[in-house]
Amino acid sequence: MSDWGFTTRAIHVAQEPEPTTGAVITPIFQTSTYAQEDIGVHKGFEYSRTDNPTRAVAEQVVASLEGGQYGLGFASGMAAESTIMHMLKAGDHVIAGDDLYGGTGRLFSRVFEKFGLDFTYVDPSNPDLVEAAMRTETRMVWLESPTNPLLRIIDIEAVSEIAHRSDAIVVVDNTFASPLFQQPLKLGADIVVHSATKYLGGHSDLVMGMAVTSDDDLHASLKFHQNSAGGTPGPFDSWLLLRGLKTLELRMRQHERNAMAVACFLESRREVARVLYPGLRSHPQHELAARQMSGFGGIVTVDLVGGEEAARRLLRGMKLFQTAESLGGVESLADHPAIMTHASVSAEKRDALGISGGLIRLSVGIENEADLLTDLEEALAS
Ligand code: PLP
Repeated sequence: MSDWGFTTRAIHVAQEPEPTTGAVITPIFQTSTYAQEDIGVHKGFEYSRTDNPTRAVAEQVVASLEGGQYGLGFASGMAAESTIMHMLKAGDHVIAGDDLYGGTGRLFSRVFEKFGLDFTYVDPSNPDLVEAAMRTETRMVWLESPTNPLLRIIDIEAVSEIAHRSDAIVVVDNTFASPLFQQPLKLGADIVVHSATKYLGGHSDLVMGMAVTSDDDLHASLKFHQNSAGGTPGPFDSWLLLRGLKTLELRMRQHERNAMAVACFLESRREVARVLYPGLRSHPQHELAARQMSGFGGIVTVDLVGGEEAARRLLRGMKLFQTAESLGGVESLADHPAIMTHASVSAEKRDALGISGGLIRLSVGIENEADLLTDLEEALAS
């Protein structure tokens, strides 16, 4: 099974026909509980917060796609992140990237700091800064690569090596790259986390999270906290995720083709101050991206010459790119990070990072390339 290709695994891992009916597709086991043959004698399922058969298949498929041993499903990406943090205790120190999804930064600073966790934010695209921030109490290094929304690339292997020297674990949010284009466990990370709401689900019709590890102890701890804190997904969302995963490779390849075309088009326009896309040679870490990833993904960030006013005009002018939070669905979406997804990041921090009023993050969908370019061209002309 492990030598099957990516899409074969997405379609077949743990997905033999259902034994009682022969159903080819994994059923939605919409049940909270399971009859026991005798007291304490059951078929491996007791209560659906703890385990559910539909969720269990989705967990195994995502684990396989990430090249990991164990997958755990959550009600959202944030529920997955919270559960990972629940493994720590007061006094522990965490080093986190300074360009994380805004909600992750909020979770750290407004929720977990209250419980005595200590956070240091650094730019991990310079691994020396991670090394300099390490302390004896450092238990975890939390990375996103590519980062959201600036698409910086972190050398996961180099940072993992630094963290492991001090016995800290490395968590990588792999939402943007997807397991098709990047497999952090193979680069030394200990846990991979996903907002499965995005590319894994792929159709903007579910909210879910996933965590994957190959470490027995980390898995046991995560599984304990998953059940204890209870942020688990329902069977229907798990089923939608399974359906989405089957086309992940096909979708990602089209996302990437379109994103490259959009990035090249925008780079040629005088209304544009800079385009951030790891696939462009102009991206400061293009070579690292090419080494660490097998594709550059579907997100393109663009900074407009005319600042916030120009950004508002572009967002209003586009017809195919809907202005919406989220990303990774088949349809193209546009986000204004400063006002939308990263509003929870302080204005000073946004300025320091370069999340300006003219910055727009495009989640390039799988529509026809020519239509997307026409949409952008017409909106820029407006
Ligand atoms: N990680 C990244 C990179 C994200 O973009 C998001 C959401 O936008 C999350 C985590 C949180 O996931 P969710 O919205 O599924 O809770």
